[in-house]
Amino acid sequence: MLPSPLTIDVRRGAISSLGTVLSDRRIATEGRIAVAVGPGQGARIVADLDLPRCEVFQVHNGGVDDATELGKQLRAGAYEAVAGVGGGKTVDVTKFAASMAGIPMVAVATNLAHDGIASPTASLEHESGKGSYGVSMPVAVVVDVDYVQAGPQRLVRSGIGDVVSNLSAIADWELAGNEQGEPVDGMAVTFARVAAQAILHRPDTVDSVDFLTALAEALVLSGMAMSVAGSSRPASGACHEILHAIDQLYPQTSNHGELAGLGALYASYLRHRYQDADAQRMTTIRDCLLRHQLPVVPQDVGLDIDQFARAVDHAPATRPGRYTVLEHLALSPAEIQHSVEGYVQAIRG
Ligand SMILES: [Zn+2]
Repeated sequence: MLPSPLTIDVRRGAISSLGTVLSDRRIATEGRIAVAVGPGQGARIVADLDLPRCEVFQVHNGGVDDATELGKQLRAGAYEAVAGVGGGKTVDVTKFAASMAGIPMVAVATNLAHDGIASPTASLEHESGKGSYGVSMPVAVVVDVDYVQAGPQRLVRSGIGDVVSNLSAIADWELAGNEQGEPVDGMAVTFARVAAQAILHRPDTVDSVDFLTALAEALVLSGMAMSVAGSSRPASGACHEILHAIDQLYPQTSNHGELAGLGALYASYLRHRYQDADAQRMTTIRDCLLRHQLPVVPQDVGLDIDQFARAVDHAPATRPGRYTVLEHLALSPAEIQHSVEGYVQAIRG
């Protein structure tokens, strides 16, 4: 059985279908709907919608406390379903709250910063950092390309880094399969790889509606890969261990997708240098990141070689039990330092 949303609607003006989506009898029979909106474009969007009977809740930040509070309100109001309208944080808060209240959730994404739109996980901030929580997959996914295009371009570009990092995550999963006997799910790998390949070689950019549509579909497909796998495995390996380490050691360095892309490129370099992987893979990822003005070396996100090397050394501790090229090579701090120097040279050269 394939766990998939009932509806996936990715196009210009898609948000106008939200009323129809919410009146689907498989989602709500009596029309008791809650809508959670983010601090950005959310409120204006809801004002434009023809949803007279829905109750609107404001999501203030991307924290666990905010999500728990919303979950309590949804439970107390006995709603049948909730739609989360906004960016990644709003969607994640709403996913968590819906799971807590035990009701279906419709994700309405207004940007494409990462692959959490349709995934069964929510990334939320808590008092000592950021945590990833298992939640139910959204029952429907709506991405309005007009709103995505009107949003900040840097955020949309970062979604490219997240989807391309799938290639590195899959290589890590296959390595764990070979070395550790970890089961590798072929369907999840297919979804995750096709998502990355759909973006990797495209010559157009976030200026094009066609590109934004492809990126939105790729991010939804990545979410489905995680849903099939039952974990973030197909979209998160050494690339994400490095990004979590950077988040922990140097908070606010950069956003999720930019760091995921950088981590994936470095991991690809390790595979090339220590495991005889084809250099072509590394250069293809590099060229894609450069085409979209995404960071390719530590300096691009304001880190020096020492700082990045420290993050690589710390990375395996951020995700105990996940076997990747980092755990496999188990380089010493001095070897890591050396590898980062070689990496910067290889990428720049
Ligand atoms: Zn990610």
